[in-house]
Amino acid sequence: MKFLTFIHEGKEQIGVLSLDEKKVLRISRIIGHERYLDMNRFIEEVTDTDIEILSQVLVNERNVGVPVEEVMMRSPIIRPKHDIICVGVNYASHIRESSMFLRDDLENREKPVYFSKRTTRIIGNDEDIRAFSDIDEELDYEVELAVIIGKRGIDIPKEKAEEYIFGYSIFNDVSARKLQTEHLQWYKSKSLDTHSILGPVIVHKSALKFPIKLDIMSRVNGEKRQESNTELLMNDISAIISDFSRGITLEPGDIIATGTPAGVGKGFNPPRFMRKGDIVECEIEGIGILRNRVI
Ligand code: MG
Repeated sequence: MKFLTFIHEGKEQIGVLSLDEKKVLRISRIIGHERYLDMNRFIEEVTDTDIEILSQVLVNERNVGVPVEEVMMRSPIIRPKHDIICVGVNYASHIRESSMFLRDDLENREKPVYFSKRTTRIIGNDEDIRAFSDIDEELDYEVELAVIIGKRGIDIPKEKAEEYIFGYSIFNDVSARKLQTEHLQWYKSKSLDTHSILGPVIVHKSALKFPIKLDIMSRVNGEKRQESNTELLMNDISAIISDFSRGITLEPGDIIATGTPAGVGKGFNPPRFMRKGDIVECEIEGIGILRNRVI
């Protein structure tokens, strides 16, 4: 089941995609809860019965829905409850390329590297990335598997991690590389407006086999730049949820970006950063394609 946030007839609401992905079904109309207009609230309050009703409606195709072309897609979660939790250097291939430009000793770390992205508004599929080339000309892309938390928890054991997941999405951790090396910490370089991109949908966890093994890739202007599989995550999803939640409460709607594989623009010699007019596509098998233009 694929969940999305969209605008139709001037109103922002949430829906599910029909099985042929040609129509959007409004969740509030199916379940009859007007409160289900916002994804954060839906993730927090949805019951197993609601999920069952939604999947039955999709299978039976009783509901007509709105053609996908008639809606404007937004990020499934537009305003996160907290900063986005990011895992840095979590594929061996990306550690190798990053050690060329990051000062720290990345190879010999035992613990995951965490940082966060501030965002006042996460952008979604087809929305534009602002280049901010007056601040930093080294604009880079990072395709990542995003885990969306579904249940509140602290000190979550590895073997129970999946219980705390709502679903999965694609995240583009857009990065301003000059700022990343100029400032001691990455917070500012990762947090420029429009540089957090999520979507196009959240796939419910019931649709994907755990542990998650999915092809992940990115393209710039149609040319493949990154290609890997999420089974190569050095700290896998269970390990991240378990380790991060030691002493920190995770809440429904929290977004964890699990790290990017090799092939970022900064990793090329010479580097290949994004420029105005470029189209960047992030793709994960079974989830979809997240496409954005740089302006
Ligand atoms: Mg990243």
